[in-house]
Amino acid sequence: MSPSVPENLEKVLRQVSRFETKCGRPKRSVQLIAVSKTHPPEKIREAYQAGQRHFGENYLQEALDKIHALSDLDITWHYVGPIQSNKTRPIAENFHWVHSVDRERIAARLSDQRPSALPPLRILLQANISEESTKAGVSLRELPELATSCRGKKGIVLSGLMAIPAPNKYFEQQSKAFRRLKLARDQLQEQGFNHCRELSMGMSSDYEAAVAEGATMIRIGTDIFGPRNS
Ligand SMILES: *Cc1c(COP(=O)(O)O)cnc(C)c1O
Repeated sequence: MSPSVPENLEKVLRQVSRFETKCGRPKRSVQLIAVSKTHPPEKIREAYQAGQRHFGENYLQEALDKIHALSDLDITWHYVGPIQSNKTRPIAENFHWVHSVDRERIAARLSDQRPSALPPLRILLQANISEESTKAGVSLRELPELATSCRGKKGIVLSGLMAIPAPNKYFEQQSKAFRRLKLARDQLQEQGFNHCRELSMGMSSDYEAAVAEGATMIRIGTDIFGPRNS
């Protein structure tokens, strides 16, 4: 029998703690986001009962169904998937964090559509750090302009950066990509983007390198919920 979600979760948390110690970072400086896309609400409930509070979803309709089904739980929801500009309203209304903002139009719509009764939506700008034209995300060259466009918009707070680097099995190559994102975050902070603190980077196959390079949030799916069949 394959290990249960609580067992997997415990194992990942132990690893994170080990990686934090190994690179001299304080314990619990990395927030674990359990990416539950394609997995049923019952699996999320199992992880929640084991103590996990932050969950990430990629597909909007699927995410909305789960948010509804799990509304009795105190979950912090992160939207980490691609954003179509005609689908921003339900994102603005139902999530706490959005990691995948890659153009001004999306930031503007999230700002307009965030209900004023809710706290501001925490947004991360998704940057392309792999120098591949096929990868989603704003280029590092255009990042400062996108960050500037978020200034003064009500209902959203530019809270950090996110990246999904091209898969690479070598630790040193993984580290190099993550270092580019950290540098970009540090530069934005120097330019006065004081709330731009988070670094959302690292997935099941590369989170050790991400933690070593300063990730504040890691997004783990497979290592917690098992393989996806879709
Ligand atoms: C699916 C997904 C993850 C989790 O990936 P795993 O390799 O299963 O850990 C993290 N971030 C994003 C944006 C994803 O789409």
